Amino acid sequence: MALFTAKCQAYSDSYCAVTPALSGVIVFLHSFFTMSWLRRDKPKIADTQSEEERTVRTEGIFVKCPDCENALYKRELTDSHEVCTHCGFHFRYDAIGRLNDLFDDGQYERIDEDVTSGDPLNFFDSKPYKDRIDQAKDVSGLPEAVISAKGKVGGHLVYAGAMDMSFIGGSMGSAVGEKITRLIEKAYENRGTVVIFSASGGARMQEGTLSLMQMGKISAALARLHEARLPFISVLTDPTTGGVTASFAMLGDVILAEPKALIGFAGPRVIEQTIRQKLPKGFQRSEFLLEHGMVDMVVDRREMKNVIVRMLDFMMNAAVQTSDLKAIGA
Ligand SMILES: [Zn+2]
Repeated sequence: MALFTAKCQAYSDSYCAVTPALSGVIVFLHSFFTMSWLRRDKPKIADTQSEEERTVRTEGIFVKCPDCENALYKRELTDSHEVCTHCGFHFRYDAIGRLNDLFDDGQYERIDEDVTSGDPLNFFDSKPYKDRIDQAKDVSGLPEAVISAKGKVGGHLVYAGAMDMSFIGGSMGSAVGEKITRLIEKAYENRGTVVIFSASGGARMQEGTLSLMQMGKISAALARLHEARLPFISVLTDPTTGGVTASFAMLGDVILAEPKALIGFAGPRVIEQTIRQKLPKGFQRSEFLLEHGMVDMVVDRREMKNVIVRMLDFMMNAAVQTSDLKAIGA
């Protein structure tokens, strides 16, 4: 209002001599806007809540898409399996959500839940590894960085594993390696298919070489599965890096990837610093890998189950799985 008044004053000073009528209007407007009944005499609505309380009340209702920057209802996002309904951006997804989506009617049996991380090296960095494990269990609500499950997918017997980034970056320690190996061995014994959703920063540093040994162990189990002509579908999600990429994630009979997922061994920043060169646009993203023959298909998460079922219908063909086995000497 002060600004407006100042402007009126300046305006009327310059022009009142030339246009008295205009000057009269300005004076009227000035007095109109400065009338006391328009002033806010009452105090503002009282601040009944602290800043923190207000934040809590609105928290979790909206999520901003980092790609298209549209605001999304949290519930809308949950219904669309954590995929932006405007641009198709794939948010990171938890292990339980993936298993619920994959299995028929969301029905499955969780297996090997008792296999959890120990602390074989008595390791500590900024804090003891044991504390890190406890914290990860609290934050994620999961017993380990991978959840193993058994059930039916499109009527086919499937042994599925889903990794979860919220448990120490989805890293692969001895327990994760053991769970995945057991999953593959169970599929081998019962003639089922293996589906693994990878989401991992790589091998778990806190278990040193014991983590790295898992790469060989899982690969050996997958070789047996391959000899038994049983399929392994590997689904790469954001991010799939390090020792996980260097072992089972890239050993799938079919390798699927979610759109724009970061997939690689070392991260792009590390490579740039090492070779001192700028990497091409989209390097180590699903679409780039598809173009270069490292991935078979980039699949939208909302279509993932349908695609997997179609593949299982083809690969688990009864004629191939039974009588033909002996004929070809497998
Ligand atoms: Zn979006």
